[in-house]
Amino acid sequence: MTQNETKHQKAKRIFKILGIIFTIAGLALAITGFASIFIAMNNEEKPSLFWCCFVGFPVLAVGLWMLMLGFRKEFMQYAKNESVPVFNDAAQQAQPGISAIADAVREKSDSVVCPNCGNPCPQDAKFCEKCGYALYKSCPDCGEQVSLDAQFCKKCGKKL
Ligand SMILES: [Zn+2]
Ligand SMILES: [Zn+2]
Repeated sequence: MTQNETKHQKAKRIFKILGIIFTIAGLALAITGFASIFIAMNNEEKPSLFWCCFVGFPVLAVGLWMLMLGFRKEFMQYAKNESVPVFNDAAQQAQPGISAIADAVREKSDSVVCPNCGNPCPQDAKFCEKCGYALYKSCPDCGEQVSLDAQFCKKCGKKL
């Protein structure tokens, strides 16, 4: 641990302690001031401790600010530990799903599944790359290449 870090931590501890003291003191002063005003209003007399409000709120603000500085690292760590791994996990879990969907879409859109072995072949492949099975048949009338499940020739309309 370096000198700087030790100093930093010392300053933070002071901030935490002073922050707590200032926050409590500020709250107490503000409450005292308010109570004084309410009591004075009820008794129809001049509030003697209303200045506590004016002192209390800045003190409270300073106390909260010091607490924020003192506990900032803890807050940051908490935020980092809580949110980032969750986000990463979600991304990692979503990624295989997304790529699987992308693969499925790609296979469906630009490939022909071999009826013999199930291998996805490119759309323009005449034979299966894996087993050599003919992926298209030729029209006996005009010689047009048609898909294996076609009922009629797409060029001449002959029943296949
Ligand atoms: Zn095949
Ligand atoms: Zn034909």
